[in-house]
Amino acid sequence: MFIVDAHEDIAYNALHHNRDVRSSVAETRTREATVPPPEDGVLSGASELAMVGLPEHRQGGVGLIFATIFVPPGEPAAMTSDGFSQLQYYHNLAAENIGVRLVTSRDELARLRHDWQAASTPDARPVGMALLMEGADPLPNPSALEHWYGQGLRMLGTSWRGTRYAGGTREPGPLTDLGRALLAEMTRLNMILDISHMAEESFWEALAQFNGPVIASHSNCRIYVPTDRHLSDDMIRAITERDGVIGTVLANQFLVGGWEHSQPLPRLDAVVQHIDHICQLTGTSRHCAIGSDFDGGFGVASTPEELDSVADLSKIGDALKHSGYTEADIQGVLGGNWLRLLQEALPDEQTQ
Ligand SMILES: [Zn+2]
Repeated sequence: MFIVDAHEDIAYNALHHNRDVRSSVAETRTREATVPPPEDGVLSGASELAMVGLPEHRQGGVGLIFATIFVPPGEPAAMTSDGFSQLQYYHNLAAENIGVRLVTSRDELARLRHDWQAASTPDARPVGMALLMEGADPLPNPSALEHWYGQGLRMLGTSWRGTRYAGGTREPGPLTDLGRALLAEMTRLNMILDISHMAEESFWEALAQFNGPVIASHSNCRIYVPTDRHLSDDMIRAITERDGVIGTVLANQFLVGGWEHSQPLPRLDAVVQHIDHICQLTGTSRHCAIGSDFDGGFGVASTPEELDSVADLSKIGDALKHSGYTEADIQGVLGGNWLRLLQEALPDEQTQ
């Protein structure tokens, strides 16, 4: 089964925590046992065991990743520079001839799926990366987006914390004038809006203004985890009425309200609970998917018991099956729903 993981901070971890996605998870853990990764004070999860490596993606059937450009709050010029460094990192990775491809068009997506199916062994599978900017701070102004689009960026979220464009997690607020101009530029470029981390006031305003495709790359259900980081039932309905897709985040504190490390690890039924809630609200599984955020400020000590690395994502399918979901539902949640959305939202090759 071709699995899609809609949120991995690969470049951020490479540039800020000295992690190398080309290494296996076992290699990274062995190296970090003697040389712990540097911490930059924003995301401390690099002190936990890593879960992400290209070999595990291949073994676990993860054929496509939404690979993020994530820049913590800082000085404007430094954020722009960090963003470009992360963009360059992905281009370098794709140029290395190690089977990593940037996916920016329908044709590239179709070729990726074809070549992935045709691979003679899991180790020979290509790994696609579709670029997603998490928080628009690297953009000094909306007109900078066109260059990024030309460099392959197809998905953008305005916020992590609040940005100059919109309110964000724990920093509520509306869109700014710059934020409205950014959404207009996204419309012109036919980009995908990622509303994860967007403050609720900004969210409603953005949905009213922006008519393009809408996703939540990594957000859970507020009914189980009542913070502004997650989606109210009304927000879930609004995204799904736009035929958007919601990636369930696999961090324990986002799966179980109030979870702390002193408590036992949740099991995968906690993941199923969030997916099932969206299915019950909407009457279909077509809007549910995975956005693990593995190694995004947390590691294996903060994920459900059955998950040791990204190679274990298919176990979510087993848990869904146990709860009565059909094979078609499971294929959709593990990858098919993201693929459908991208197939509709990405440009043809010619329009790049
Ligand atoms: Zn995030």
